[in-house]
Formats: sequence, structure tokens, C-alpha cells
Amino acid sequence: MRILLQRSDGKEAAWIADFKTLLPEAEIVFWREGEAVEPCDYAVVWQPPAAMLPELGCVKAIFNTGAGVDALLKFGDALPAHVPLVRLDDAGMGVQMAEYVSHAVLRHFRRFDDYEAQGRAGIWQPLPAFDKADFPVGVLGVGVLGTRVLQALAQFEFPLRGWSRSRRHLDGVACFAGEEGLEAFLRGTRVLVCMLPLTPETHNLLDRTRLSMLLPGAYVINVARGAHLAEPDLLTLIRSGHIAGATLDVFRNEPLPQQHPFWQEPRITITPHISAATLRRESVAQIAAKIRRLHAGDSVAGIVNRLQGY
Ligand code: NDP
Repeated sequence: MRILLQRSDGKEAAWIADFKTLLPEAEIVFWREGEAVEPCDYAVVWQPPAAMLPELGCVKAIFNTGAGVDALLKFGDALPAHVPLVRLDDAGMGVQMAEYVSHAVLRHFRRFDDYEAQGRAGIWQPLPAFDKADFPVGVLGVGVLGTRVLQALAQFEFPLRGWSRSRRHLDGVACFAGEEGLEAFLRGTRVLVCMLPLTPETHNLLDRTRLSMLLPGAYVINVARGAHLAEPDLLTLIRSGHIAGATLDVFRNEPLPQQHPFWQEPRITITPHISAATLRRESVAQIAAKIRRLHAGDSVAGIVNRLQGY
């Protein structure tokens, strides 16, 4: 069995070593632009360049070392349609998302952001506490990661809401579905958490009209993709006071350019796309197990529906 590995983070030696440990019978071939390779059985990629596409037409499955497949589906028809595309299914990202989002929600709800500012100014002043009943948290995308985040937030007893394409049923979560459910979902949400895949339907979803539907004093957390959010619209609504602030991990342009106005807005907390990193050992273990199943003719979870775009 031959596995074609592509990465551009310079960490290929560790990935190859982990694959060799779990699939000792496999030959791991590292892909380099301009170097010819023998046909392989499986490909393991992250944001491959277009130059790699010809190699992907002859594999039995393409494994994406992330949950989001937007960087692959952007190739459209150039990506071989007959080859199954398999995404990472949690692989240690769920708990990281739960940590990140819980921290951001609690930091705002318990006013730690205000206390940090007061602390820097040497001010000892208890502030009025927010009431949880006024703080419904709404998660856009109730999939693998969104569900994990909702479960974590349930421990803190926030009123919870979720929005997905098909209707989900989660204990203690008011579930909304589809275009027709979006407005009602937003109108009852105070803290909005975006955990959607980036598809033509979700691109620019969070624009001025939709963000204006959130409850007054809303807070926005985006851990999905920068292109979900109309960045100037968020700034406008923060400056108008309708939105109290935001914690953003993803941006239209990454790294966020130095001159971007978000850097100057104290009500926006910026992190450099770290909310849920791909964990090498967990990812290799999941992919190796799926390769074994496919090789034995069994089915695997996490195959992307190309029509839905995730
Ligand atoms: P899943 O496929 O498990 O879940 C996606 C969810 O989004 C589902 O509930 C789905 O609905 C919903 N959804 C998709 N399209 C629509 C739509 N048009 N309208 C309403 N709901 C929709 O994905 P994951 O939870 O594993 O990952 C989610 C995203 O998180 C990834 O695609 C990626 O972009 C992002 N991510 C970001 C990371 C970071 O570091 N910032 C790290 C990892 C992931 P339904 O349930 O009906 O299918």
C-alpha cells in the first residue's frame, strides 16, 4: 500500500513516522511539487496546491487533515469527483473548541474583559453582574464540533440554541433548522457562535441584516471561517453599540493585516486561527484506522457530501 502525504508546515518527518508506526506495511511517499511519484492508493493532504490535483485522480480516497474541506472543494470540477473525500471527524478538535468557546463566553458573561481593563487602570470596582436568563448562547452548526461546544456550555447552565440544515434534537437545546429557522434563531440569541462549514450557502452569512437581528448587547464568536462574517458590518454594529464585542479566531485574510481596523478595536479579541489545531497523533490514528477499513472493503464515517459542500 502506498500513501501520498502532502503538507507545507515542514513537519512531514513526524507525520511519516506516525503513519509508519500504525501502518508498517505502507510506503509513505511525501509529495513535492515538480517531483514525479508512482501512483498511490491513498492521499493525505492539507490545503494542497493545484499542482497536486493530477495525483489525486488515481487514489482510492483523499484524507483531509482538517474538519473543513473548503480549501479542497474550491477546486470544483478539477477535484476528481469519483474519489471519496474524507474529513477529520473530531480527532481531538472538539475538546479544543469546547475550551475556546467556553472561555470566550465566560470571559464576556462574567465581565473578565471589563475587569482586565479596570485592573490595568488600578480600579477596584465590582460591576453589575449579567443575568444568565438574558444570555442565550446560539451555535450556528450543530455538527461534530458544534455539538461538543453545546455540551460544554450546558455545564454552565446557559440557555442554549442551535441552528443546522436538518433539524437536530439535543437535550436542553432549542433547535432551529434551515433558512426558515434562521431569523427566529438569531432574534433569540445573545452570544452567537459560528461553527459552520464554509459553503456557497454560508459564505457571508453573518452580514449587517442578520447580525442586527441578534439581541441588543450581543456578542459574536467566530471559530469557523473568516468568509462567514462581513467584517465591516461587524465593526459598524460594534460602534453603534448593538453588538458589545467579539472574539474572532478566523479572518478573511490570514494573517490579519497590520492595518486592519480590528486591531484597533478594544472590544474585539483576536486569536491567530488556533481555536482547534489538527493534532498529529490523533489525526494519524483516525486516518490509519479508516485506511485499514477501506482496504478491507468496509465503509468509513466522515465522507464529504460534495453537493452539500461539507
Ligand atoms: P460538521 O459537518 O460535523 O457540522 C457542520 C454543521 O453545520 C452541521 O450541523 C450542518 O447541518 C451545519 N450546516 C452546514 N451548512 C448549513 C447551512 N447551509 N445551513 C444550516 N446549517 C448548516 O462539521 P464540524 O463540526 O466537524 O466542523 C465545522 C467547521 O468548523 C468546519 O467546516 C471548519 O470550517 C470549522 N473548523 C475551524 C477550525 C479552526 O481552527 N478555526 C478547526 C476545525 C474546524 P446538518 O447537521 O443538518 O448537516
